[in-house]
Amino acid sequence: MNEITPVRPRIMLENLLKNVEERTGYFGAYGGAFTPEILRTTLDELIVAFDDARRDPSFWEEFRAVMGSYSCRPTPVTHLKNLSDALGGPQIFLKREDLNQTGSHKINNVMGQGLLVARMGKKRVIAETGAGQHGVATATMAARLGLECTIYMGAVDVERQRPNVFWMERLGAKVVAVEDGSATLKDAINQCLRDWAFSMDDTHYVLGTACGPHPFPQIVAWFQQIIGQECREQMMAVTGRLPDRVYCCVGGGSNATGTFLGFLDDAEVELVGMEAGGEGLDTGRHAARLAGNGGTPGVAQGYKTYFLQDEEGQMRHTHSVAAGLDYIGVSPILACLRESGRVRFEAATDNEVLEGFQTLLQREGIIAALESAHAVAGVIREAPRMRRDQTVLATLSGRGDKDIFTIAEALDDPGWRRFLERKAGR
Ligand SMILES: *Cc1c(COP(=O)(O)O)cnc(C)c1O
Repeated sequence: MNEITPVRPRIMLENLLKNVEERTGYFGAYGGAFTPEILRTTLDELIVAFDDARRDPSFWEEFRAVMGSYSCRPTPVTHLKNLSDALGGPQIFLKREDLNQTGSHKINNVMGQGLLVARMGKKRVIAETGAGQHGVATATMAARLGLECTIYMGAVDVERQRPNVFWMERLGAKVVAVEDGSATLKDAINQCLRDWAFSMDDTHYVLGTACGPHPFPQIVAWFQQIIGQECREQMMAVTGRLPDRVYCCVGGGSNATGTFLGFLDDAEVELVGMEAGGEGLDTGRHAARLAGNGGTPGVAQGYKTYFLQDEEGQMRHTHSVAAGLDYIGVSPILACLRESGRVRFEAATDNEVLEGFQTLLQREGIIAALESAHAVAGVIREAPRMRRDQTVLATLSGRGDKDIFTIAEALDDPGWRRFLERKAGR
């Protein structure tokens, strides 16, 4: 059924992970674990359990088998012939993470950590979520693996993201609306950590992206590298060679890291990370930490990376039309790859993203998540300057059904407006 032959995880992640001045968990100068003493024991336990799991070849095979039967892996690579012709440049291919269970690449990491939890013998999982996509994926995994599940979410986000809250609760998760502070993601993170400090004996914290204290960036990247491995094999099978360039959108950085890991050692493959340019880098209303000069190195939320912060280290407000990219930090793995020059970072504005979204929709019949449309926008901007005999691969991290409200509003769709008015009238 799966035409992809089993591949062992490649070792590039290990090459990146260095001890810096005797401190473990660093990628170059970034990463580490800046956590309260109380979490030390459980993080150390997690390091041991994960090291044991990733050295056991049967664990990776179990992960692949679960993702094959539950989440459509390997996800296909689609040749975008119409878009390639329209742009008049290279042949463009799309890695279809939108076809996963729950509609994005998030399930790769969540199911992976779920299998790790089962291996550790823990019975409960907790997670925090902003837009709610990670919460839905975690609740899905918990239902499937028979784990108790609590999701922390800012009270403001609970109101804004009702459809996701609805599904989390139907899936059997307890959703806690956090009223502290600004009642958004960062407050949910604090509450979740507080829960973990008291519950860590039987509870695992399912972190949603390749950020946070060691070993989370390593764990998330390790599971997400399934994307890059498949991409590499599929591009070889379909085109007979590696792509010239690879584009991914970058929020916390998990789909990008996972995809890039498939090509890191292939110097001839150019890697491009697309961040949220929001209303423009010069407006200050964006979430570009690595592109331009917006972000600066700092320590927050348990790890060292580039943050959007002011001179005093106060976190700035971020903005993006795509909720999943709207975050102050970024994976320490990507901070390291930026500094080494291996990955180039660019930003796409909200307007470019909406245009890229519509182009993909109309020319190829694919409904992209607004996050993923950042990668598409990067391709549309740069592909016309590439040669026709070249190939480009972009990862489509998720599908856009969840963005129907945002997109209908942005396009000021008259039928949709009437639909909302009629509902409000009742
Ligand atoms: C959450 C999300 C992202 C951002 O997360 P990364 O860790 O940067 O991959 C991107 N795309 C979609 C569809 C998402 O749901």
